[in-house]
Amino acid sequence: MTINGGSSSIKFALFECGSPLKKILEGEIARIGLQQSVLRMNGRDPADNFSRPVTAPDYQSAAAMLIEIIEARSGHGAPAAVGHRVVHGGAEYTQPVKLDPGVLAALEKFVPLAPLHQPHNLAPIRLLLERQPEVVQVACFDTSFHRTNPDIAQRFALPAELHDAGVRRYGFHGLSYEYIASVLPDYDAQAAAGRTVVLHLGNGASICALEGGRSVASTMGFTAVDGLPMGTRCGAIDPGVLLYLMDERGMDARAIEKLIYQQSGLLGVSGISSDMRTLLASQAPSAKIAVDLYLYRIRRELGSLAAALGGLDAIVFTAGIGENSAEIRARVMADAAWLGVKPNARANAKGGPRISAARSRISAWAIATNEELMIARHTRRVLAAS
Ligand code: ADP
Repeated sequence: MTINGGSSSIKFALFECGSPLKKILEGEIARIGLQQSVLRMNGRDPADNFSRPVTAPDYQSAAAMLIEIIEARSGHGAPAAVGHRVVHGGAEYTQPVKLDPGVLAALEKFVPLAPLHQPHNLAPIRLLLERQPEVVQVACFDTSFHRTNPDIAQRFALPAELHDAGVRRYGFHGLSYEYIASVLPDYDAQAAAGRTVVLHLGNGASICALEGGRSVASTMGFTAVDGLPMGTRCGAIDPGVLLYLMDERGMDARAIEKLIYQQSGLLGVSGISSDMRTLLASQAPSAKIAVDLYLYRIRRELGSLAAALGGLDAIVFTAGIGENSAEIRARVMADAAWLGVKPNARANAKGGPRISAARSRISAWAIATNEELMIARHTRRVLAAS
């Protein structure tokens, strides 16, 4: 079983441990914390197909509901192991790890580094360790994949003592990038062995530079608020702005946290929505500014990562916007013409996978990511090893 806890939902899936892994059930507890939460399941077994209102006033109760679902699946339907997406593994966890109370305590130390995500990721782990300690649990980190970044790419130009204390660039969306790196050889073996930039454009968004399938740089840093503007996050910002807001507007850390994580990005600039589809369909001038700024920042970060790689062989679009919006892909590719990207408009409109022209010096791809499958693969491997 895989568990992926977001801020207002917990997604889960069940895989059959064959080769290849086969998904037999997926589900979600959505609208956590709202008036009427909902539990949806969609599975091979008819009893696993339903959508019903549930009471989940907070994340803790949603996690408890999920554990009850796991407990109810006794016998053949019981999961052999449970793999969790965990946002932060710090500098230590360069690989997925089998969980026990000691590892859980170590992961709790990273809560201040990801206060909005890490507690949600750890809640179901803690409950399951308490109630079914015999179940093998595995943590798969969003940061691990970037631990191959050279030291220089992980440093801020701050006093070295702070770097040693963990104030460094970690990078996120690692499970998504790892999945793309694992399938890229099937699409473009040359690019997979060379230099590729992957654009994970979802509600959260980042870009990663791959060299021979290994991460060498990314746009997210110490936290998942850095880099590109996102649905509600501002992305990279002059730290002087934050000092100004503290001094002149009397904002404290919590107020700034709310501003930069929940009220900025596409939502903040447009004043309309955090949802790209809504903005692309809107005639409002502020929606156009939000989309233009999003694309302008992508254009600059793409150049920065190409520079970090010293050249480019391929670009890959993935996640909600990257997989589904031909318009955004077309505009990013037009902005990247100077790098040698020549789009194939018809292939792009159809969704790819190859969306560059045959004569394009740099190939371009739209490839669906699959973080769940990546978690399931890691979990199976750790289970086999244990
Ligand atoms: P999350 O990071 O929450 O998993 P997703 O990867 O599902 O998010 O991405 C959500 C984003 O994808 C939203 O901004 C949504 O509007 C956008 N999106 C999905 N389909 C389309 C589409 N056809 N055109 C433009 N944007 C789309």
